[in-house]
This record gives sequence, structure tokens and C-alpha cells, in this order.
Amino acid sequence: MTTHTPPGRARILTGDTPTGQLHLGHLVGSLESRVASQDEFDCYFLIANMHAYTTRADKPQGIRESTLEIVKDWLAVGIDPQRSTFVLQTEVPAIAELTWFFAMLLPFNRVMRNPTLKTEIDDKGLGDTYSFGFPMYAVGQCADILAFRPQLIPVGEDQVAHIEMCREAARRFNQVYCGVDPHAEDSEHEALGGVFPIPAAKVGRIGRLVGTDGKQKMSKSLNNAIFLTDTLKQIKKKMGQLYTGRQTMDEPGDIDNALFEYVRAFIRDETRVKELEQKYAAGDNIGDGHIKVEVAQAIDELIAPIREKRAELAGEAGDKVVLEILREHAAKANAVAEETLARAKAAMKLDFFGRELRFPG
Ligand code: ATP
Ligand code: MG
Repeated sequence: MTTHTPPGRARILTGDTPTGQLHLGHLVGSLESRVASQDEFDCYFLIANMHAYTTRADKPQGIRESTLEIVKDWLAVGIDPQRSTFVLQTEVPAIAELTWFFAMLLPFNRVMRNPTLKTEIDDKGLGDTYSFGFPMYAVGQCADILAFRPQLIPVGEDQVAHIEMCREAARRFNQVYCGVDPHAEDSEHEALGGVFPIPAAKVGRIGRLVGTDGKQKMSKSLNNAIFLTDTLKQIKKKMGQLYTGRQTMDEPGDIDNALFEYVRAFIRDETRVKELEQKYAAGDNIGDGHIKVEVAQAIDELIAPIREKRAELAGEAGDKVVLEILREHAAKANAVAEETLARAKAAMKLDFFGRELRFPG
């Protein structure tokens, strides 16, 4: 089966690691633009379940549960399995094989200098005992992406460094194995015989939503997230923890603080946002507590429909729905990735015997 991108319909790939549930950072950083892209683009959304093992090898049950929960989050926000393809990473063997190829093209020190990996090592407290597989995930991510030969990758800001590495891996492969001139423009690589397009990152409406700790990026693993399943009560409690350092209602406040990042991200009435900014900056009798409640209500309005849809997918019945989608989509995902792998192997003089994968019907 040949799977060229249909003319005029560029391909998108992005995904999530099943290390917990999805949160507001995912919504404004990536999920919203995924939902909006479904008609215009040929969309692939990947669950990076192998990558979850790079920091949690001893928690297989949690990773499996989280895998299903994230797909439920996708369905609840409006990602449509009729229009988009869901990719379960460990069911697509070509990704693991391509990871090896790219690992040979990226210098070790280049991978280890990746600023996102360094931040993650600090933020997640990985110290110097992280697994060998942990930095490998950044190389694996090149394969996740390039296996689907996409043009665009909708991501949060933290992923831009990873995408840059992926672009380097693609260029290098095309130069070393496909004879693409090192001076060629990125946009020409495929036309010049390169197996891979050089894909571009597309950062969402908010590139980096700060967590409710007011410091680090909102993250599944950092205990600073408002989840898409949280109730108004939980949202209010978490917003209440956001520390601004401001003491009284008449103290002029800093409208660039974490609280106002939330105001601008979630209060959709622009006039109200301006009014809050003016009053806050002037110290005009407006308390942090009041603003937090207003933000919490705006968040609640935004996620209430998601929560409702999510509740319909609760429990084992929902698990079955999700597994059925993943099973069906595995065939399509593999058709694309196998074709990429075959082309890459041919370019590398590794096209010995060929193969076909079979899936249970
Ligand atoms: P983990 O703590 O396990 O790294 P995470 O919360 O960072 O989890 P990922 O699965 O690593 O989530 O990221 C999935 C996608 O969501 C990526 O494109 C990432 O850039 C984006 N993203 C994650 N957190 C945020 C955030 N706080 N603001 C904007 N985008 C985000
Ligand atoms: Mg992350």
C-alpha cells in the first residue's frame, strides 16, 4: 500500500507521553490546535508509551492505565478518530528501528546538550541516576515524527529544541544516504530525493503555561497541574495555591505575574482582561483571591464539556472503546511507518528481504 500525502493536504504528527492525565497546558499548548487542524491536515496523534518507561520502568500498570486515559482525553476534547489517526508507539515496530538509524547520525554530545533534556533532568529531580534510555527518548522522538513524514508538528515551547534535533536528523539522513546537497533548502529535500521532509514546529496559542506553583511549566509529573477532569472545587483549590507575593488589595500588582498569565489564557472577554489588568496594576481595590475565583470559573466553563464527555468514557466500557480505536488505527499507522522504513532501508543499502506485518482482524 502506497501512502503519499495527498496533494494540498499536509501531514501533522504530534503526541503525548502517558505519564499521567492531560492538563490545561496541553489544552492551550497543543490540543486546541490539533482539534482545529483535523479538516485541513492529515493528522497523526501518537501515544509515546515506550518513552514513559524511560523514567518509570517500574510502573508498567500506571503507564498502561495512563495510555488509555490520554486517549479518553483526546476524544473528550474533540479529536475525532474518523478524521485523525491514533498511533500507539509500541505497536509500530518501525519506530524502534528508525530510532537506531537516527541514533547513529546524531552525535552523542549533541543529544546530551539538548536544553529540554537538561531542564527535565532538573525539574523531575532525575539527578545522575536516570536510565540510559532517558536521553534516548529524544532520539526516539525523531523517529516518532519522521516515521510519518509530516510537514508540521504542533507542540509546546519546551519541545522546540527536540524538534530542532529532529530536523537535523532528517537533514543528515537525506544528505548521507540520499545524496541531498548539504546546501539544499529544507523545503527542497524531498524533491531532491530525500526520504524525509524537514518538518517545522508549530507552537500553540500559549507556548508554555506555567503550573499552579507559579514557577515551573505545568507538567503531568510535577504536581502543579489542573487536569481536564478537575471539578470547579478542585480548580479553585489549585488556583488558590498560586502564589504572587502580593499582600493587599491596594498594592499595585505585576500584570506579568503567573496569575495574569492565567487571566489572559482563560478569560476570553478581552474587555474584562483589560479592566482586570488596569485595576491590578493600579492597586485599585482588587484582591488576588477575587481574580483567582474568576479565573477558576472561566477554566471550569472551558473544561465542563470536556469533563462531561470524559465521564461517558469512564471505566471498562470506555477502555474497550479506546482499545478498539487503537487496534483499528494500528494498521493504518503501520502502513505509513513501514513504507517510510522500507524507503529508509533502501537508502541505507539495508533492503535485503523485505517483510510484511500482519494484524489480528
Ligand atoms: P511530563 O511531565 O511527563 O513531561 P508533560 O506535562 O510535559 O508531561 P508531555 O507529554 O511531555 O507533557 O507533552 C505533550 C505536549 O504538550 C508537548 O507538545 C508539550 O510541549 C505540550 N505541553 C506540555 N506541557 C505544556 C505546558 N505547560 N504549556 C504548553 N504546552 C505544554
Ligand atoms: Mg514533558
